[in-house]
Amino acid sequence: MVKECGDCTLCCKLLQVSELEKPQGRLCVHVDGSKGCAIYSERPQSCRSFHCLWLMDPHLDEAWKPNNCKMVLVAESDRHVVVQVDDGASQSWRREPYFSALRKMSAKAVEAGGMVTVMENGEATVILPERGVYLGKLESGDRILMGKVQTPEGPRIEVTKLKADQLGAYNAAKAGQAKSGK
Ligand code: SF4
Ligand code: SF4
Repeated sequence: MVKECGDCTLCCKLLQVSELEKPQGRLCVHVDGSKGCAIYSERPQSCRSFHCLWLMDPHLDEAWKPNNCKMVLVAESDRHVVVQVDDGASQSWRREPYFSALRKMSAKAVEAGGMVTVMENGEATVILPERGVYLGKLESGDRILMGKVQTPEGPRIEVTKLKADQLGAYNAAKAGQAKSGK
């Protein structure tokens, strides 16, 4: 069965639309109640090309429809999923069945070298298969890095946030380690 947006307009609130200078988290002025987009035939290209993960993934049932769960799942690539949470539905991602499903999604993403990140009020939490890592506010240019480290208890996934001005030093340190074979 092909899914349709129907009465959902949550991405029209939670996502940025650069053509309209609409910031994230503010309802688009063109939303016409539950009828949807009032300028549908002339909507910007970024609206035309956007499909949330619920629309695309046949395994996500009605409970995951964005206006039901108050979250828009965005596939940033085939390995990275960003969960945009409506600010009126604080911590909805922590509820079941969502939290367990996000952890399962994370296990697949991490195995492929990706991650699942929850964004709520501009704050990021990376969901790992066994825990969540809260990273605080994510500013423009910030990067989230994930890697495995060895601990006495075995390998552990570490997640860190780097500011744009820390990236140069980080990359130089990595290049140095690669050269010295560490
Ligand atoms: S969040 Fe998904 S289902 Fe809702 S309007 Fe956007 S694309 Fe459609
Ligand atoms: S232009 Fe239409 S589709 Fe795009 S965000 Fe606004 S209401 Fe949604």
